[in-house]
Amino acid sequence: MMKLLLRLPVAGVAEAWPTETACRERLIVARWPGGIRCPKCESGQIGFLEKRKNYRCKSCRLQFTAQSHSLLHRSHVDLQKWFRTTELLIWHNAHHPDLNYPTGHDLKDHLEISYAAAHAIKKKILKELLLPDGGLLGSCVSVGPAVYAPADVLAGSSDELLWYDAHITT
Ligand SMILES: [Zn+2]
Repeated sequence: MMKLLLRLPVAGVAEAWPTETACRERLIVARWPGGIRCPKCESGQIGFLEKRKNYRCKSCRLQFTAQSHSLLHRSHVDLQKWFRTTELLIWHNAHHPDLNYPTGHDLKDHLEISYAAAHAIKKKILKELLLPDGGLLGSCVSVGPAVYAPADVLAGSSDELLWYDAHITT
């Protein structure tokens, strides 16, 4: 997994985006940095249906939300829990690349969701983090570009860990 630069406040995601609304706004900016676009036809002519809290593409008429057509589609888990899990997995990867990731059981207690949901979102997030810039969720919680240790730092060495420690957490 690439190393993503977490530049979050001390209390992390919970402090940076304390509410579902704040998380949704963050998701929108991370997903569409140049303004909301239709997930189907890429049009930028987008309206908002106040009643249904949906966006509507004026070109192809698709109705969508910030989560539609992404790994968050139809998820019943709070956005902030997705963000917190992403943060945890990136942190874990940066600090303990030699240890197993937290299990679905660990996450279930941490997030107060079912084991099945915890296991499923962990799998999806780990897959997402392999994408450039950590995919959608990596982009949401990593305020800053992905970073790579310079070529003269041996991959897998303790020097590499120290390098990332110095450069990833703030
Ligand atoms: Zn469209």
